[in-house]
Order: sequence, then structure tokens, then C-alpha cells
Amino acid sequence: MSTKRKAIALISGGLDSMLAAKVVQDLGVHVEGINFFTGFCVEGHTHAIRKKDKPKRNNALWVAEQLGIKLHIVDVVEPYKDVLLNPKHGYGQNMNPCLDCKSFMVGQAVKWIKENNFDFIVTGEVVGQRPMSQRRDTMPVVARESGANDLLLRPLCAKILPPTLPEREGWVDRDKLLAFNGRSRKPQIALANSLGFTEFAQPAGGCCFLTDPNYSKRLVDLWHGRHDRDYELDDVMLLKVGRHIRPNDNFKMIVGREEGENNFLEGYRKQFIHMRTPDHSGPLVLLDGNPSADDIELAARITARFGKGKSLPLVKVEIGELSGVKKLIEVKPISPSEMPEDWTL
Ligand code: SF4
Repeated sequence: MSTKRKAIALISGGLDSMLAAKVVQDLGVHVEGINFFTGFCVEGHTHAIRKKDKPKRNNALWVAEQLGIKLHIVDVVEPYKDVLLNPKHGYGQNMNPCLDCKSFMVGQAVKWIKENNFDFIVTGEVVGQRPMSQRRDTMPVVARESGANDLLLRPLCAKILPPTLPEREGWVDRDKLLAFNGRSRKPQIALANSLGFTEFAQPAGGCCFLTDPNYSKRLVDLWHGRHDRDYELDDVMLLKVGRHIRPNDNFKMIVGREEGENNFLEGYRKQFIHMRTPDHSGPLVLLDGNPSADDIELAARITARFGKGKSLPLVKVEIGELSGVKKLIEVKPISPSEMPEDWTL
């Protein structure tokens, strides 16, 4: 009797990885999912903080639920730093090191299958789908540099790639795999419909914030402002939240845009000098860096500008220092003409 083969499918939460896992699952393979948490994932808390009308859900978990498979969420925040800081193949259009990132994630999956006695790895990659990591010439790079080699099956385009071990061994029927190629999403959508999926996530910029130009600008600014490219998870989380304003090289402000963001920023009050306007509703503002006394006054004027008292001649601003001491100052809210556009990140 043949034993059921086991595959781990990389699940991002998007349509491609969902389809790839489903195709292999339908060929009689036991499939489980794996999702890597880098800190830059679009999934997770950001949707939950803001009052957007998007569904407040983790798409990777949702996909696993649709497929009826177990999902392993693996925290790779620490090892991922080296991928982002030193990508051998460089960055894409923004700060996305997609080719190194893919090799890294598949490499992590290789370790996982060895430790967990699984047979092969499945990804939703499609030849020609993305400019950096999914080109005909870079697909073998991922297979080679990850160490997966021919244990890496891409069911959505397998028919136009050399047969992998699972195909050669007959663990999956190559004839039932697909030959998708290029940027068009139509074949994926048609396949989704034929498989009965009526709902699926279509993240506009891919699977992570590193493909987002604004986010990338904030990240580069963070490194520049600190004269250091290292980062902690909290740093990169905060880049997703609020308005970011840099009036000076030595400090920047993170200004909550709505109640949910203010509540989120509250959690960081003890780590940053922070400001609010006690007599008027307005944002909670964190100051990151080493502001001078003049900078603090400027930041207070900017804080006042974002509160309900912005048209008054003078507004009280409460400053919470790192020592825990609170001070009140009165300032004239800054006018929009005094705030150059390039302060906003
Ligand atoms: S979009 Fe982000 S998560 Fe996806 S491959 Fe590129 S860097 Fe990695």
C-alpha cells in the first residue's frame, strides 16, 4: 500500500498560495501550511487597529481554514533582519528583497520538512508573475539557494518547469499540474472559480509592506535618522501606524490618525517622549530621536495643529517625558504654510 506523501505549503494569505496548496491536496497529498512572520507582513494587526472596512482577519489563517489544513506560523523576525539588511540580489522597486526573501523562506521550509518528516515543499509561485523573484531565470535560483532543489514543487506552473522529485516519483501526477505563465491573474481567478472559491484576498502590493513605496521611504528614513540600519520589531511595527513627520534630522513625530491608532500608540508611551492636547481632542504623538528644547516646542506646535484647537491663538500641550514627569506648555499651533511638505514621510 502506498503511503500518503506529506507536503508543506507556503501560505501567504493570497490567492496563488491558496490555489497551489489546494491543487496538491486534491492530488491526494497530505498538505499543511506554513506562514512566516517577518514583521513586515500586511496581515495581522494593522487592519485591526484602523477603522477600515477591510475584513479584520489574518488571511493566512483564513486560507488554512478554507482548505481545512493545519497552519504553522513561524516567527522569523530575527533571522529575517539579515535578509533585509544584506540582500545578495538587492532590492526590488522599493525595499523589498524578494529574491533573497523567497530563498530564505523556502530555506526555512526545507529545515522544517527535515525536522517534521515531510516529503516536499509547495509554493504558489508562477513564472513571470513578479519582476524579481518569479522570473524564468530566478525560479532556479530560489530552488538552489534555499537548498530545496527538486523538493520544491510549484503546482501552478510546474508543467513549464523541469519535473521535480514529487513528479518523477509519482507522488503527484504531473499531468494534473498547471502551466500558468505571466502577469495575468485571469487563469488563477478561473481556477479559483472552478474549485469553488468565491472569496479570496488580493493584496494589491503583494504580501508585505516592503513593496509599499511609502513604507519603504519611512524605513529608509528610520535608518538614516538613527545612523544605523538595525531595527527591532517595534520599530517596524510603528512604521505602519500614524502620520510620520520629520521636522529635523534628530527627531521625528508619530501622530495617531484615529482612535484606534492613538490606543495603539498609548502602548509605547513609556518608551518615547509623548504629547497630547489635554483641553481639546486630538492625537497622541510620540517623538522618536533626541529632540532639543527648541525641537520639543516645535513638536508641541505641530501636535496642537492636529488637534481640535488648531485655530485658537494658543493651545496647551502636555508633554510626557521619559522620566515619567509631565509638563504643560502653551503654544501657537503651527500653520500649514510653516510645515514644508517634505516633513511628511
Ligand atoms: S513581497 Fe515581501 S514577503 Fe513577498 S517575497 Fe517580496 S520581500 Fe518577501
